[in-house]
Amino acid sequence: MPNAAIFLDRDGVINDNTRHVNEPQDLSLYPWVPAAIRQLKEAGYYIFIVTNQGGIELGFLTHRRLEAIHRRLRKLLSTENAGIDEILYCPHFHQPCDCRKPKPGMLLTLIDKYRLDPALCWMIGDRETDSMAGKAAGCRTIKLGDPDPYADLTCSHLGEAAEHILRLKSETKQ
Ligand SMILES: [Mg+2]
Ligand SMILES: [Zn+2]
Repeated sequence: MPNAAIFLDRDGVINDNTRHVNEPQDLSLYPWVPAAIRQLKEAGYYIFIVTNQGGIELGFLTHRRLEAIHRRLRKLLSTENAGIDEILYCPHFHQPCDCRKPKPGMLLTLIDKYRLDPALCWMIGDRETDSMAGKAAGCRTIKLGDPDPYADLTCSHLGEAAEHILRLKSETKQ
């Protein structure tokens, strides 16, 4: 199954974001995340992070600082065999762009680059804008927390979302 991916929102899905993450040491992974990513990778999915980081345009964060945060994130995950294939971020806030979710630009870029079948992909996020971006890209969607109109499924956290995806995959053989 080379053509399927899981698109993950970052804040509130992978790491706790009750406080803004503006420094690498601010990053705190939820405990179920490494195992969930590892299981999805073992099932053959590419794992991508697609994250809105409007703090860059607003001046809370620089590209360099964000890249340092993402290096730490990759390191924490790779020590648990939960490597991320690629991380894309939107640095915009007010400035018009095609990448800030709910726009699907980041997903479409990866779908094109990796020749993915969007119908086999999932977008997992904790905001309605994540589900909207996933639907606009032709993917199935999982919302963490409360349901929203664009979500195919609602789960409490990424570990539960991974279980759903893997169960559906084994039932439908895709
Ligand atoms: Mg989020
Ligand atoms: Zn953007």
